[in-house]
Amino acid sequence: MFIVYGQHILCFVPPESGSIAISMPYEQEITMARPLWFVALLKKTFPNRRMIALMTRVPLLGRLVDKMVFENDDIIYLPKDSVVQKTIPIQKSVQRPVETVLPSQIVEHFIKKANYHWIMNFCICRSASKCKDYPIEYGCLFLGEASLMINPQLGRRVTKEEALDYVRRCREAGLVHLIGRNKLDSMWLGAQPGNKLLTVCNCCPCCCLWKILPDLTPGIGRKITSMSGVHVKVTDRCEGCGTCTQGSCFVNAISLVDDRAVISKECRGCGRCVEVCPNKAIELTIDDPEYFEDSVRRITAAVNVE
Ligand code: SF4
Ligand code: SF4
Ligand code: SF4
Repeated sequence: MFIVYGQHILCFVPPESGSIAISMPYEQEITMARPLWFVALLKKTFPNRRMIALMTRVPLLGRLVDKMVFENDDIIYLPKDSVVQKTIPIQKSVQRPVETVLPSQIVEHFIKKANYHWIMNFCICRSASKCKDYPIEYGCLFLGEASLMINPQLGRRVTKEEALDYVRRCREAGLVHLIGRNKLDSMWLGAQPGNKLLTVCNCCPCCCLWKILPDLTPGIGRKITSMSGVHVKVTDRCEGCGTCTQGSCFVNAISLVDDRAVISKECRGCGRCVEVCPNKAIELTIDDPEYFEDSVRRITAAVNVE
């Protein structure tokens, strides 16, 4: 991870690399695609991400990091379609049947709207963690004009159709979408301005950077939210087997209390735990019939992809 400080970007690397911080001119970097050595350096910081996240709980440092790395961010975790299809209640009050709109259609909406589509050759989180369970080659999709500034050695520009096919394949591989404005991506990729770069992540529960959410200062953590109207609850069918607590939740929001699963406020409504429960004891419901419009409104206010 890195922090912008004054005119420099500070890169924190593990002690075994022989140094704790390296800096380079920031002004120069924001006008250039990031070189590959910079990306390699970022991967080396990955094992330190929890420690860096915990540092944001120091009040002054937290405010500085928030301003420099997360300013204007608004990121939404989209639940898996397969989970929503099973549990969404029928909203009789709306004209359009809500069960016909799936969370993945929010991603598709922006792909169709965008004029620029960029697919990364790899997922930096899975690559840095040497992920064995999910494909490393399925990286983020970026939309918007700023994506043209990404180093061409890191990915490729694609058509709308290719982008639509790509996100479908990511979902089939079990990855979960996260969508929104993410200043960190705009910085590490040198893709400016931030309001012209929309991040569509395809995340796994094991390696994703956002596993640090419970460690971040709450002021930053609340910028990564569940989709509007999403509720996840444990029902009386829970028998306390503990399966849902064994790695399905990227933010460790599930624990066993008195032989029953309990979900904490860290939940971001991804729906992975719903899938793993052998008793179908966890339910994900969406009680906001306007969740599609609300998500589109929020993202459109944060990023222009045209
Ligand atoms: S945030 Fe998700 S898709 Fe993006 S690099 Fe990390 S795991 Fe990969
Ligand atoms: S996997 Fe299902 S039954 Fe087992 S503890 Fe979790 S909610 Fe309960
Ligand atoms: S408890 Fe965890 S796995 Fe379950 S929906 Fe919430 S964030 Fe996802």
